Amino acid sequence: DKSDKNIRELMYRGLSAEYVLILERAGEVAARLGYKVFAAGGIVRDLLLGMECLDIDLVVEGDGMELARALSLEYGGRVRVHPKFHTATVYFADGRQVDVATARVEFYQYPAAMPQVETSSLHQDLYRRDFTINAMAVSLNKDDFGDVVDFFGGREDLERGLLRVLHNLSFIEDPTRVLRGIRFEKRYNISFEPQTLKLAREAVQNNMLARVSLERVWEEIRHLLMEPRPSLGLARLVELQLWEYLFPGVLYAANKVVLDELHLSIKVLRSWDLEEPDEPWMVYLIAILHQTDSEKAREICLRYHLNKRQLEKVSAALKGWRGVMEGLNHPEGLNTSVLARRVMNVPRECYPLILAYLVNYVTRRRFRQVLTAVFYDKPSINGKDLRALGFKPGPAFKMALDAVWQARIDGLVRTKQEELIYAKEYLSGYEGAINDV
Ligand code: ATP
Repeated sequence: DKSDKNIRELMYRGLSAEYVLILERAGEVAARLGYKVFAAGGIVRDLLLGMECLDIDLVVEGDGMELARALSLEYGGRVRVHPKFHTATVYFADGRQVDVATARVEFYQYPAAMPQVETSSLHQDLYRRDFTINAMAVSLNKDDFGDVVDFFGGREDLERGLLRVLHNLSFIEDPTRVLRGIRFEKRYNISFEPQTLKLAREAVQNNMLARVSLERVWEEIRHLLMEPRPSLGLARLVELQLWEYLFPGVLYAANKVVLDELHLSIKVLRSWDLEEPDEPWMVYLIAILHQTDSEKAREICLRYHLNKRQLEKVSAALKGWRGVMEGLNHPEGLNTSVLARRVMNVPRECYPLILAYLVNYVTRRRFRQVLTAVFYDKPSINGKDLRALGFKPGPAFKMALDAVWQARIDGLVRTKQEELIYAKEYLSGYEGAINDV
């Protein structure tokens, strides 16, 4: 019935005011141009699930590029059009962005002996999507704002927790949908519907993924590694026999325990208030590769075209994680500065792995101390103080301050006065560092 079909209330409650405003404006602009406009894909799914959704994907029955231009003209923001695909992106001043697609009226060929039927262009657009739960839309025009368009039973599948492809050739058309499916399964705690699962397994058996560029495969892996619990998806890759293709030569079993625990380590580290890793996916990539020999690990990184800087980070992590971990577990206890130097040789993306290996409270607390020293403990003196002592600025200053830092985190100096004395002694050993005066 009509009231059930309309999710206007859900939109007002579930989306921020700015978000709703953009949707309403899109509806107004479309009406003026004589078009119909819909928000499609993830937004409807996430609204129905009561989850946050940040993407805005619009589908226009009409010229999407024209609508995008009109929207940006009227409400500010820049627009970038992609004429080849009849799509456009509007970038609003507040950082929000909206993707606009054009749905074209075409003849839609039903399989088998069905007659050719003209279907709505929205139907066309939604039919090309990966799963029924992603193939819903919501109308934005004023007269039916909030009406859900659900040709394929996505809403019911969502309620029943089922991931279903729209047709039997879906995974053949685009095998990365298997990987996307795994991501949605674990994110929403739903499952492939039996027939879809069968099709997915067939696609794997026929090695369909090998037909896709490794760039696209990596994009999907990277997304998987940024989910809240990537280990669930990784275990599913193993179940569906995709692991060996995606990570050739890497043993899953050897890493399973650590992988399963990594999200907890990430949470603990977050509570320590350090800088977050720049590349969250790399946390998991490092954990996946940490027991693999460096040559093989490198091959995998090259396979997925990691850039030079990323390669260096992964390689530093794989070389250094054990040293940090063993240092923290050292029976006699190592100096903070020794541990700090080891920590400084691995990227932040490696900390969760190290933490996952620290099984007792004492070593975990020690790790925190060392990280705090690395990030926050700075000498209270600086170059100016050294000049005031009568030393000539030069490369030795940096070394002296570094030595002071080391002494400080090892507890050898505590006050500013002690730091000054320490630096003075250090620099006196350097010929030419003392001023003539
Ligand atoms: P996420 O929250 O991960 O961004 P999303 O559903 O918004 O989920 P996107 O990758 O942003 O995912 O894609 C937007 C929409 O485009 C999807 O909801 C889906 O309908 C469609 N889509 C994306 N990739 C594919 C694909 N490979 N095959 C078919 N449809 C796709």
